[in-house]
Amino acid sequence: MIMEKMTMTEFEKGLGKTRTVIIPVGTVEEHGPHLPLSTDTIQAMELAKRVSQRMNVFIAPPLHYGFCRSTRCHPGTIGISAGALRLIIRDIVRSLHLHGLRSFVILSGHAGSIHMAALNEVGEELLEEIPEISIAVLSEMDLFLDKGVLVETEGDSHAGEVETSMMLYIRPELVKGRASKEYPTLPKPILVRDKRKYWPGGVWGDPSKASRDKGEKMIHLAVDKVIDLIEKLESHREG
Ligand SMILES: [Zn+2]
Repeated sequence: MIMEKMTMTEFEKGLGKTRTVIIPVGTVEEHGPHLPLSTDTIQAMELAKRVSQRMNVFIAPPLHYGFCRSTRCHPGTIGISAGALRLIIRDIVRSLHLHGLRSFVILSGHAGSIHMAALNEVGEELLEEIPEISIAVLSEMDLFLDKGVLVETEGDSHAGEVETSMMLYIRPELVKGRASKEYPTLPKPILVRDKRKYWPGGVWGDPSKASRDKGEKMIHLAVDKVIDLIEKLESHREG
């Protein structure tokens, strides 16, 4: 049940089938010289759509902006503050709750630590505020924590093997060749203004290890895991 395509009447009828909604969260962010700026949004939305083909769940229109830290100086990255992200998600969840939704999956295509912390923080606040809701917050990368057999590249996290594989499977026409293996050399814990200087290509991992076949397996695994999660979330009732 993709909300952006539904009428008021269809939405109301859908509430008789489920009270669960996935809110896909993306970014407008550089993804190397080979993947589009909308990679995170495309991936989160695609995953959500595939979940909705297998179970009754509402898919909210995606939030196309997120908090981007390490890539903020790279061309094309258009970020919002963590505070703005919290406020937007809070308003969206409150409004969905007003319309009858009770279980919320905030599914992020972007896995940045401050971005995820903001989503978790607002999730905790909403739990306190609205007693009858349940919330799960996760990034797509969380679905590959036990990557093991699927992912060869150590520490692959941005525009590398995982994201390039998934895009080769879901939007091959948007993949412009392959970038080389790269890892940032940011001098942590020293904070730097010109982050691009330490990370010129904007790739964190190895896109040359990517393939359509791996992408297909990753997407199917991710869909299974989100479905499992929703089943757990729907039966998870407190108080
Ligand atoms: Zn990404």
